[in-house]
Amino acid sequence: MLRIAIQKSGRLSDDSIKLFKECGIQFDSSSSGKLKSISANFPAEFLFLRDDDIPGYVEDGVADLGIVGENVYTETGREVNVVHKLGFSKCRLSLAIPRGTQWNGVQDLHGCGIATSYPRILGNYLKENGVEAEIHEISGSVEIAPSIGLADAVCDIVSSGSTLLSNGLKEVEVIYRSEAILIAAPGLSGEKAALLDKVMFRIKAVQAAQNNKYILLNCPADAVDKIMQYIPGMKAPTVLPLVTEGWVSLHSVINENDFWTNIEKIREAGAEGILVIPIEKMIR
Ligand code: ATP
Ligand code: MG
Repeated sequence: MLRIAIQKSGRLSDDSIKLFKECGIQFDSSSSGKLKSISANFPAEFLFLRDDDIPGYVEDGVADLGIVGENVYTETGREVNVVHKLGFSKCRLSLAIPRGTQWNGVQDLHGCGIATSYPRILGNYLKENGVEAEIHEISGSVEIAPSIGLADAVCDIVSSGSTLLSNGLKEVEVIYRSEAILIAAPGLSGEKAALLDKVMFRIKAVQAAQNNKYILLNCPADAVDKIMQYIPGMKAPTVLPLVTEGWVSLHSVINENDFWTNIEKIREAGAEGILVIPIEKMIR
């Protein structure tokens, strides 16, 4: 059985639970006090933990897999394998200073105090840039440090920047970009590695489906070659005759981003009645 550690409650929890459910792995994630849950239809047990503890548990083999932010993985420095990027909980770690202060570059922080919950990532960044500054490690509410005189600057997680703004700070430098990742214990047994392969197969199918759409359109038969350039499909599009002479229905798969880039060209080539439909799972 695979033991999978996910965040108990926080910014990773909902998407982590959703991912495994979309992979068809059922487990009870509802009750708030629960720390463990065994899947009814896959050999997996889920552990609900604080995110900071997950890399350590995975390194020690208490959990076989875990989902954490890359920021936490890098900061804890644990020896685990990064299996896959998951594309959610995207955020950045940035330097911010009081809004009225001038900024010419990271060299400005020479001799300053910087408050952060990420001393390792910040320390490495300062070292790479040859800046000597004092790092004040605090575990939360980092953004109030300058206003209470604890530090000159902060280094904290930013997604929209509104927390910084409401504390009179401005973001001046992004030092690290993060998203959720799947990590695995080093040296998984053959049996567990096989289960991880199964999980990965499902995760990739779910991710491919999220990035792609099923597209149906009608076009004159002689426009098929041109339209195919924009929607090549998985192998090739399906072309079915319409009752209307000389017209066909073309079915294919298109990447979400490519759709918006190519839609005008597809229409110019003669496509009409275009339908774009979500895909639930996609296996190449
Ligand atoms: P815990 O109680 O489990 O220790 P926490 O308060 O440390 O939780 P969260 O705020 O839930 O952590 O954030 C978890 C992870 O989500 C972060 O490590 C980061 O990777 C990512 N994250 C943080 N803030 C944001 C945000 N604003 N938007 C998107 N992702 C974020
Ligand atoms: Mg935490």
